[in-house]
Amino acid sequence: MEARNNPTHHRAGTQQRATVVGAGIAGLAAALRLHQQGWDVVMIERAPARRSSGYLLNLHGPGYAAAERLGLLPALTPRDIGFFTSVLVHADGREKFRIPAAVAESAVGNRALSLFRGDLESALYDAVADLADIRFGTTVQTIDQTAEEVVVTLSDGTRLHSDLLVGADGVHSRVRELVFGAESEHFVDLGHMVGAFPLATVPEHVPEGAGTTFIGPGRTAAVMNFGPERSSAFFTYRCPDPTAELALGAAPALDRAFGDLGGGVADALRQLAADPATAYFDSVGQIVTDRWSQGRVVLLGDAAWCVTVFAGYGAALALDGADRLGTALAAHGDDIPTALATWETALRPEAHKRQALARKGIGRFAPSTRTQVWAGELMLRAIQLPGLRGLARRSIQRANN
Ligand SMILES: Cc1cc2nc3c(=O)[nH]c(=O)nc-3n(C[C@H](O)[C@H](O)[C@H](O)COP(=O)(O)OP(=O)(O)OC[C@H]3O[C@@H](n4cnc5c(N)ncnc54)[C@H](O)[C@@H]3O)c2cc1C
Repeated sequence: MEARNNPTHHRAGTQQRATVVGAGIAGLAAALRLHQQGWDVVMIERAPARRSSGYLLNLHGPGYAAAERLGLLPALTPRDIGFFTSVLVHADGREKFRIPAAVAESAVGNRALSLFRGDLESALYDAVADLADIRFGTTVQTIDQTAEEVVVTLSDGTRLHSDLLVGADGVHSRVRELVFGAESEHFVDLGHMVGAFPLATVPEHVPEGAGTTFIGPGRTAAVMNFGPERSSAFFTYRCPDPTAELALGAAPALDRAFGDLGGGVADALRQLAADPATAYFDSVGQIVTDRWSQGRVVLLGDAAWCVTVFAGYGAALALDGADRLGTALAAHGDDIPTALATWETALRPEAHKRQALARKGIGRFAPSTRTQVWAGELMLRAIQLPGLRGLARRSIQRANN
């Protein structure tokens, strides 16, 4: 079956065509940006339908600015959870100390959003749905390119001809595998697992409008209570054998790693056991490649540079990268390889910096020893002192610039 975009070559003045693989944050943002500048966009998404996942994302700095440039703020602002109080707890759930919302606010500033990933994805999807041809339940089987076009064969047999192929299909990207080589050549395992999921009911033992966090050697568990349909849980832990952990599955694996904890964690694990399909559960690994593009094929988002959950910045970089990709393509017209190379040169230092910050940040999520746990707590207590708040703010601002 031949697709609606015929295999005619792009000529000056004709509409440019892009195929975007992956309708996640990077792919939808790219589709929106390309459509805004006149491209005809087809999206290929493996999932059979839209899903929404319930982990929390923070957008500030360049991520917030990119959301603004993409015109997303009117849809996102009403979904903002805002700053919230963090309660550090003992293993049995008893409170150790709390960090009031105002401390985080004074450190991060007011150009910031806390959102459920599903809310960000929905805002992007709503902006794109009527503009792009989105094909769910489909994936890519082959990719061939010439100097003039890129041809993709889909799992349903369709062949799509386009000027540009964007591989925005996440950390385990099929586009990357087909064009840039096997995942094992690019995936750098950071030796940890992450699990995150929405809670069907408000968690027990967690004050409303707050999150409880347990940080122990090699692991962190956080449970957030923002009311019905807005509550969620997050877990990360050191793990020498991610393959075995993935084979075990989210609910048994998280139960084995965190089943000894009380408070909100026990309730969150019970909720997960009742509905294990809701969990995001994966090993934590960065993607490191020499190049993000080859000819007319470009990787975007986690597919290209996954910075991991430890950076707290992957969605921000996906939005910023998509927006800047649009700018580079607009500046170079028909010369797509040059546009992609220019874009990559400008963006690479940022991705590199975020990957380095993530590797440094592992100790905050999964401190190796009790001494490191204690030192981390000391720092969290210290940033509440008025004199040190300014220091925290300046260090966050430095990371964002
Ligand atoms: C627990 C957790 C907390 C996080 N917190 C933050 C935060 O605070 N701030 C922040 O900025 N970032 C955060 N991140 C990172 C952020 O979520 C990711 O970097 C971001 O979602 C990456 O977007 P993406 O579109 O590149 O990839 P994905 O979101 O993985 O989307 C990829 C899409 O491609 C589809 N797909 C996959 N394979 C195929 C295929 N073969 N064919 C077709 N489609 C396919 C998938 O179904 C999916 O829709 C967090 C991540 C986690 C796990």
